[in-house]
This record gives sequence, structure tokens and C-alpha cells, in this order.
Amino acid sequence: MKQISKMMGWCLENLVRDTIKNMQPYASARDEFKEFANPLIYLDANENPFQNGINRYPDPKQMELKRVLALQKKVTTKNILIGNGSDEVLDLLLRVFCEPNTDNVITLPPTYGMYEVLANINSIENRQVLLQFDFQPNVTSILNSVNEKTKIIFLCSPNNPTGNLFKKESVQKILENFLGLVVIDEAYIDFSEGESWLNDLNDFPNLVITQTLSKAYASAGIRVGICYASEEIISVLHKIKPPYNSNLLSQKRAIKVLKDEEAIKSQVAIIKHERTTLTEALLPIKFVSKIYKSDANFMLIKVDDATKRYKQLLEKGFVVRNRSTQPLCKNTLRITLGTPEENKKLIEVLQQIK
Ligand SMILES: *Cc1c(COP(=O)(O)O)cnc(C)c1O
Repeated sequence: MKQISKMMGWCLENLVRDTIKNMQPYASARDEFKEFANPLIYLDANENPFQNGINRYPDPKQMELKRVLALQKKVTTKNILIGNGSDEVLDLLLRVFCEPNTDNVITLPPTYGMYEVLANINSIENRQVLLQFDFQPNVTSILNSVNEKTKIIFLCSPNNPTGNLFKKESVQKILENFLGLVVIDEAYIDFSEGESWLNDLNDFPNLVITQTLSKAYASAGIRVGICYASEEIISVLHKIKPPYNSNLLSQKRAIKVLKDEEAIKSQVAIIKHERTTLTEALLPIKFVSKIYKSDANFMLIKVDDATKRYKQLLEKGFVVRNRSTQPLCKNTLRITLGTPEENKKLIEVLQQIK
């Protein structure tokens, strides 16, 4: 337990906002009675009593879904919080740990835009430490930017929009030397050759991992995001989570998609194969000056004139993302990998345009 001893001074209590520490959570009507042996007649929550499959409030603890996740990810249900998308999880983290107009967080642009948006909404200073030219974190600068008000460092790995995985040593160094929370956003981890930090959950008390069913699991429409962390961290997050944040239909559908592991695996394999195919097709294209290696289901490319190429692609019916306004991303386009048929058409178009 070398890491734990290195975490001397770690104290979750000191990180939680006083407001949250002192409040009583909303007691939802349906918390306590799930385990009763006798059939119960529920007259407690002002629901319509006629059964139609959705007339009751959903389980606020989402236990069935958590049991499926716990088994697959080899954690306990107490290490899991379900959010209405991982965006909700990120917002909950800010609201539990960051005092408005006082605390700060660190993010590493170019990265996922929601960290900045959520920090702004919650009146939290966002200290931006640019990634290096290879899109890896600058660990020394990051640690130098920490002060006593820094509560969270957001690491997105694989990173959006650059597509790369952060080096294990860099992430580990941040985990070992920061006494706030290190949130690793693993929205794209299923497309990566690298390992999830989930395997290290028990080694770092300050580690928080977010994942989602929106990308690899083909379920962006049901809004299911997952937070994995220590029991302690999860229980404070549960304290402020809206009780019915995840609806019944989403929970059911999430269980279904998770149980169909083979289907997801084969789709992910196809998408990874398409990543290679598209890379090879892009290599000879003259206006593409750089193809960044991707550990995700999208590719970032540098072109001669991103606005021009974006428009040309749009005229041919393809919507991609121009990421040129992001630091270090001048003249870049981010292209999500489509089906093999869609990618084939895209390649034809890329070869045609002049
Ligand atoms: C897409 C994306 C998410 C969004 O996840 P939801 O679960 O759909 O809210 C989170 N983080 C990153 C880096 C993403 O690209």
C-alpha cells in the first residue's frame, strides 16, 4: 500500500463543502421497503395505483443496474453512482466538493468542453493547464497550479478531441501528489488498447472514474453515466443526487445493453477496425497534414484549411466537428467513425474534393 502511505494528509471530510456536510438529504418515499418479505401496498408516494409498468417511481438507488455493473467491472455496488449521463456525475462532483466563488478545479485543454461549462455554472474557477504538443499532461505545471483551494483535477483519457490516452506514469504521479480528487473521464476507454483505471480504485482514495453508456454501449439516448469511486466518496455524492435522476426505462434498457456484452464487443471491434481503415485512407490525401493516433471512436486530423474542408464535407452530406478554436488544434477536424458503409462513402468524398 505504497500509495496510501503517500496519501498522508488525505481526508475526504476536509474536501466536502460545509453546506453538504451539514445538510439532510431528501428522504424519498421508496427508500426503505425494498427488502420486505410480505407484499406491500404502496400508498405513500401519490402515484397512480393502476399498473402499467411505469406508474411507480424508479428505484432511487438503481440497485439492479448497479449489481450488473458491479459484476462486470469487479467492484462493489457501493463503489457506484448512476447519473443521468456522465455530465450529471461531473456536475454532482463540482457541487459536492467546490465552494462557489472560492474553490478551483484544474482542466487540461484541449479537452471536453463540459468541464469548463459546469465550472462556470457553479461559479468555480477553472485553472487551465494546456496539454503538451504531444497532447500529454504537463505534470509539473499541473502540480504547480494546485493551491489550497484546488479540489478537483479533471483528466480525460482517452481525451476528447485529441483521441489519445494519457501515460500511466503521468496519471499516477498526479494521483500520488494531489490531495484533492482526480477525476478520470473514461468515456472512450472501451475503444482503447490501454487499461481502465478501475483496476486501481482500491489503491487511491482520491481516484474517481466516470464512464458512460453513450459511446461504446450505443445508448446515448437513454442518458446513463456511471461514477466509480471509494464507498466514502460515493456516499456523499448520493447525498445530493436527485433521488429519481435515472428513469425506469433507462435503467431497464441499460441492463439489457450491458447483458448483451457480445454485441457491444463486436461493434467496438468493427469501429476499431474502421479506425485503421480510415487512417490508411487518409495517409495519401494531400490536404491532410497530420493524423493523430486515436484510442477512441473518432479521429482528429490536421488539414490545410479546416473551414474550407468542413464546408466541402458538409456539401457532400457529412457533418464533422471543426475543432480549430481549441488550443493546439488549429485547422483540425474531428471525425467520428461511422458504419463501414458510411466510412467508405466518406473516404470516397475525401478523395474527390480538391
Ligand atoms: C461524450 C462525452 C461524455 C458524455 O457522456 P454522457 O454520459 O453522454 O453525458 C463525457 N465525457 C467525454 C469526454 C465525452 O466525450
